[in-house]
Amino acid sequence: MNIASFRPAYGQNVNQNPAQQLQQRAQEEHQRRYQARLSEVISHENAHASAGGRFAGAPVIEADPHTGIVNGHVPIRMDFGATADEAEKNSAIIAAAACAPGFANMSGADKNVYFAARSTGPQLAAKRRHQEQQQLQQQAMMNPFAQPLIPPKPGQNPFAS
Ligand SMILES: [Zn+2]
Repeated sequence: MNIASFRPAYGQNVNQNPAQQLQQRAQEEHQRRYQARLSEVISHENAHASAGGRFAGAPVIEADPHTGIVNGHVPIRMDFGATADEAEKNSAIIAAAACAPGFANMSGADKNVYFAARSTGPQLAAKRRHQEQQQLQQQAMMNPFAQPLIPPKPGQNPFAS
C-alpha cells in the first residue's frame, strides 16, 4: 500500500476534482494579483497626497474585486497664489506631488500636472515679479517721502535758502 497516493495533488481539499482544483488556483491567483494591484495603487496615491500637502485632496480609489481593475487619483489644486514668490513655491510643491511616486511610475495625468506646474508657475512668477517692481517704482515716484532724505553737511544750516 502506497501512503503517498492519498495526498491531494493541489490545495487542501481531497474531495476536489482536478477541474475544481484548477478553478480554485485561478481564483487564488486572481485574488493575489488584485490585492497586489490594490496596495500598489493605494501607496501610489498616498505618495501624491502626502507630497501635495494643502494642494492635494484625499486619494480616491476605485477598485472592483470581480474584474480586478483598480484605479486611483488624487485631486490637485493648481493654485499659484497671488505673488511671484507664491507662484514659485506653489508650483514647486505641485510638481513634487505629481512625481512623488517616482518618475518611473508617473501616469499620463501625473506628467500633465507636472509639466503644467513646471511651465505655468515660473512664467507667472516672472510676470508678477515684473509687475511688482513696476508698482514699487510707481509708489516711489508718487510719494516724495519715499525718497531718501539728504542729511545736511556738518556746519551747514539745512534751513538756509
Ligand atoms: Zn499618479
